[in-house]
Amino acid sequence: MVFRWLRRRKSSSDLARLPSGPRQEGRGAGEAACTGCARTARGTKPVPTCPACGTKDHGLVEGAVARDVLRDGSFATHCLGCRQVTFVFEPDMVCSDCLRLLPDLNERLRKRFGVHGPGSTEGLPCIGCGLKEQTPDMEQVVECPHCPEELVFAQDDFPRQGAFLSCTGCGRAIRIPPTVWCPDCGLNFRRQGIDDLVRKANA
Ligand SMILES: [Zn+2]
Ligand SMILES: [Zn+2]
Ligand SMILES: [Zn+2]
Ligand SMILES: [Zn+2]
Repeated sequence: MVFRWLRRRKSSSDLARLPSGPRQEGRGAGEAACTGCARTARGTKPVPTCPACGTKDHGLVEGAVARDVLRDGSFATHCLGCRQVTFVFEPDMVCSDCLRLLPDLNERLRKRFGVHGPGSTEGLPCIGCGLKEQTPDMEQVVECPHCPEELVFAQDDFPRQGAFLSCTGCGRAIRIPPTVWCPDCGLNFRRQGIDDLVRKANA
């Protein structure tokens, strides 16, 4: 099997959640406190915590979440721990002045969950891949399990049964297992854990 080696390109989908965190927002230090929420640039950022199972989500980007909430009235996403839609952000959880999450966010998430329970999965992206539908031009980058070279492979035309790639760094054949496909919808590569799966498949 011959594979195209493609340049790395970032997917623009699912902007509100990054594949891994934690990450710092690029704000200048030493700014005055926000007039809306009183948080300063160095103020502690609340980590969204699932009100059902306690899983923390470091991947949510608060600026993107706040913008979605203010535009659509709410923003909901799955907990990657218990897989319920327990992260339901509402306008009383974000500051409209600085587009950040309010310090008592988790208290409000808990209250909301206590009253309404989990949100609806309708219209939400697939929990396994983070995408709403089969998405073209997606690429995956993994580190070669045997050398520092990065292997890039495209999702389009990737075989269901997995494949072998030849590493340009060390020349070894690297097995990409079929489990790189999303276990929930099977339409895209899964969102997390591909590096581990490739490492284990070649151990
Ligand atoms: Zn604010
Ligand atoms: Zn949970
Ligand atoms: Zn999926
Ligand atoms: Zn290699």
